[in-house]
Amino acid sequence: MSLALPTFDDVVRASETLKGVAHRTPVMTSATADRQTGAKLFFKCENLQRMGAFKFRGGYNAIANLTPEQKKTGVLTYSSGNHAQAIALAGKLHNVATIILMPEDAPAAKKAATEGYGATVVTYDRYTQSREDIARQMQEQTGMILIPPYDHKDVISGQGTAAKELFEEVGELDYLLVCLGGGGLLAGSALAAKALSPGCKVYGVEPELGNDGQRSFRSGEIVTITPPKSIADGALTPYLGQLTFGVIKRDVTDILTVTDAQLVETMKFFAERMKIVVEPTGCLGAAAVMKGELNVPPGARVGVILSGGNVDLKQYGELLSA
Ligand SMILES: *Cc1c(COP(=O)(O)O)cnc(C)c1O
Repeated sequence: MSLALPTFDDVVRASETLKGVAHRTPVMTSATADRQTGAKLFFKCENLQRMGAFKFRGGYNAIANLTPEQKKTGVLTYSSGNHAQAIALAGKLHNVATIILMPEDAPAAKKAATEGYGATVVTYDRYTQSREDIARQMQEQTGMILIPPYDHKDVISGQGTAAKELFEEVGELDYLLVCLGGGGLLAGSALAAKALSPGCKVYGVEPELGNDGQRSFRSGEIVTITPPKSIADGALTPYLGQLTFGVIKRDVTDILTVTDAQLVETMKFFAERMKIVVEPTGCLGAAAVMKGELNVPPGARVGVILSGGNVDLKQYGELLSA
């Protein structure tokens, strides 16, 4: 079976669609982080993106590419949080109705923000129910268009625009570290890297307990795991997508894992030293290089995507003070 994988041209088109709509987020540096790693780190701050994560890029791009009839019918999706908010906000900006399937245990702030953007939220139990099955049923009943969180050409292309901006701003890099859930951000970033910085080694980073991506990458087949428990709630996907894996297998160097304890230390670093709020999932890439899971040579130029900043304040406070 050959799948039509997204290309860098799709990422370029997405960046045109997002021009003036998505924030061109800042790239931050830190003398402390550089001293600690011996490298030169460039943090692409998607925690400062609209709705608080890069997912706005893919969600907006996917809705923008619907036909007028499809827009009239409305959009349906499932998400543990940030894709939900992305679709809800993008739906509002396009004047398209949205229904979001969300796990019961998703962070309260994410549920509230999603409803705040005008979406209808329906909850399910992610340990006993399949969100794909529920979504399929609802799709049949309502005729709404399903925009999945990562395995979709326009979603992947939209997510790739963050890395595209990073390379445009800082030039070529030796390494790029990307948070990995279902692989939309990693696949899009890899497309941008291959085109704009061909020598750059691209790594995906996922929670140690949710290492389906690493196992898939190393075995060459998509591996499915039982939904993991980790504070990285945006990376609890049990398997990669067909499209995302197709790009990842071809264009990514390797997939690494970090522990929850390493994520907490990294989150504290961002709060204390850089004065920015980064959610646990958003710390995956940074933790890999700052906690030594990836050793880079002295002076290496390392790009790190900070994927999001949506935290439940109560949980954030508890993790910071632990
Ligand atoms: C969704 C999400 C990820 C993972 O993105 P994928 O495209 O599913 O791999 C990483 N970080 C944050 C903050 C997210 O919301």
